Amino acid sequence: MTAPTTQELIAAAAERPATKKEGARFDKLTEAQQARARELVLQLADGGKPVTATWKQAMTDAVAQLPAEPEEAPEAPEAPEAERPVPAGYENRWPYAAYDVLKKTAADAEGPAWLVRCNAHGATTAAASVKAAFATARHTPRAEWCDGCKADEADEAAPAKK
Ligand SMILES: [Zn+2]
Repeated sequence: MTAPTTQELIAAAAERPATKKEGARFDKLTEAQQARARELVLQLADGGKPVTATWKQAMTDAVAQLPAEPEEAPEAPEAPEAERPVPAGYENRWPYAAYDVLKKTAADAEGPAWLVRCNAHGATTAAASVKAAFATARHTPRAEWCDGCKADEADEAAPAKK
């Protein structure tokens, strides 16, 4: 049995990283990233580096060059305060990320003195006072007054579709 040639040693070392830590990292890459990393390992080794010393750089570069597709699109951010329309006669007195507390400022405007709004769905519910508005916003489940939240909750409770 003859000793492997240098070329064979390089080819074997360029197949996947030899160390456990780098091997674990390699296994997490996508197939395209793995293929790219193998190419980069050989390119870096051509520059005179030992193949085993090139994996770390090669994997970093491969991931940077071929970012993996996110599994799910990130959720759209909730509309910034300025883009959330306020009903005529009201002002957005207490804007929060999840809800707004709107105060009626025009005495002749229609509607209750205060409104609580779900910022995910735009639904509002009436409140007689600021205290009542915050009690609703913070302590009443939004599914009780927002149809959108109710539908979301029903979706989450439903068994996952396969
Ligand atoms: Zn909602």
